[in-house]
Amino acid sequence: MLNRLKVLYQLQLVDDQLDKLEELRGDLPNMVSSLENSINVLKTEISDKELAQRESVEKRTQNEEEVEKLKESQKKFKAQLYQVRNNKEYDALTKEIDHSDEQISKLEAENNALADSSKSLSEQIEELKPKLEELETELKEREADLREIIKANEKEEAVLQSDRKKIEDQIKKPDVSVYMRIRKAKKGKAVATIRRSACSGCHNIVPSQRQLEIRRNSRIFTCEYCGRILISQEIADEVEAS
Ligand SMILES: [Zn+2]
Repeated sequence: MLNRLKVLYQLQLVDDQLDKLEELRGDLPNMVSSLENSINVLKTEISDKELAQRESVEKRTQNEEEVEKLKESQKKFKAQLYQVRNNKEYDALTKEIDHSDEQISKLEAENNALADSSKSLSEQIEELKPKLEELETELKEREADLREIIKANEKEEAVLQSDRKKIEDQIKKPDVSVYMRIRKAKKGKAVATIRRSACSGCHNIVPSQRQLEIRRNSRIFTCEYCGRILISQEIADEVEAS
């Protein structure tokens, strides 16, 4: 049991050092990922607008072709007007001509609207592009800063990670899970010691009867206030000395 408690404290000490290295990175990892998000959002926005613009150009070309065809057939109808034999034929032809007139003006109006929206899309895209460039430059700078910090502590971190692995291998899986759960909930510290009769994690007084039990190192106790694993000062001193 003594060893079980010792390795948990060893794990905590290594994690403390790893946390310090993590702290050196400050807000940079968050900044990098939030910049990446903003860039993705912006890129999607731009490509959506570019797609809408391409579709608008295609539609306009289709409409123009349609207008050409209508004008062609109108020419034929107009030529036929001179060869009509009766009113019925004449009415039918003028009806066709009127109908294609309507269609032509409808398509031309549609194309004017499409040209307007295409122009506005171009303007929007041109406004977004410098913003995207700005964010990409900032991202590059932040990434470089972060890489520099990581590189400066690369070796130290590798040593700590390999130590951590060795320590973790000595701990039973359920203990590791409990440790990791508390560590996550308490943002770092999962194992606390007793200092001046108080839990070093939350500074609440540990009842003296409980302190005695903890000093026996015979089982895992957790702080009744913060839930951290409580170990005796004796274990802490021994591990820190080694
Ligand atoms: Zn506590």
